[in-house]
Amino acid sequence: MTETSLKLDRVSKAFGTVKVLHDIDLDVQKGEFVVFVGPSGCGKSTLLRVIAGLEDATSGTVEIAGQRVNTVPPAKRGIAMVFQSYALYPHLNVADNMTLGLKQEGASKSMITERLAEAVRILNLDPYLIRRPAELSGGQRQRVAIGRAIVRQPQLFLFDEPLSNLDAALRMNTRIEIAQLHRTLGTTMIYVTHDQTEAMTLADRIVVLRDGRVEQVGSPMELYNNPANRFVAGFLGAPA
Ligand code: ADP
Ligand code: MG
Repeated sequence: MTETSLKLDRVSKAFGTVKVLHDIDLDVQKGEFVVFVGPSGCGKSTLLRVIAGLEDATSGTVEIAGQRVNTVPPAKRGIAMVFQSYALYPHLNVADNMTLGLKQEGASKSMITERLAEAVRILNLDPYLIRRPAELSGGQRQRVAIGRAIVRQPQLFLFDEPLSNLDAALRMNTRIEIAQLHRTLGTTMIYVTHDQTEAMTLADRIVVLRDGRVEQVGSPMELYNNPANRFVAGFLGAPA
C-alpha cells in the first residue's frame, strides 16, 4: 500500500498577465524520487516554490501529507530546500551553518548534537566542521547545504539544480551522494534539473515540463523507450 506524500491538483501560476504554470496535476508517493526536467524558463523553479509554499498558486492546490501547504506555518511544513547557490552564512563555521535552523526553532542542545552528528556521518563532513564556507570547495559547500537540510529531518526534500555550480567531476560525485542519501533516508525527494543525465540516473519518475505544462510523466526507461512526442524524445536523448 503506497502513501501519497505530495499532491498537486490543477496548479496554475501567473505573474501578472504572464501564465507560467498551466494546470499541473501530480501525485508523488512517499519515498519517491521525482525529477522535474525541462529547458531553462519552463517553470521548474516556480513549481518548486509553489510546492514549498513560498509562492501561492494562482489556482489549484498543493497538499503535503494531506494538508494544504499554505495552511501550515512554514516551520511546520517539514520541507527542506537545497538551491544551486548554497546560501551559507560566511561568518559561521560549517557546524553552525548546519544547526542554525534547529537553534532558531528552539531545538534542545542534545537534539542538535545528535542531528548534527548523524548528518556529518552521512555526508563525511567531519574534517570540515570548524571551517568557514570560504575555506571549502564548491562541492563541500553544497554538502554543507545538504547537511543543513538533513538535520531538520524533513518529510520532503526539494532540490533546485543543486549541481549547476559544480565542475563535471564534482557534479558526478555529488549526484552519487544524493542518490545514496535517498537510499539511506528514504525521504521523498523532488529534484529539478535541466540535465538529462541527472534525470535519467536519479529519478524513480521523471516529469517533463515544457512552457509550464507537463509533457509526460514516467520512469526513465518508459520515457526513453516510449516518448510521447519529439520534444520528450529530444530531451531525454532517445532516438526520435
Ligand atoms: P526555470 O526554473 O525552469 O528556468 P522559472 O520557474 O525560473 O523557470 O521561470 C519560469 C518563467 O516565469 C520565466 O519566464 C520567468 O521569467 C518567469 N518568472 C519567474 N519568476 C518570476 C517573477 N517573480 N515575476 C515574473 N516572472 C517570473
Ligand atoms: Mg530554475
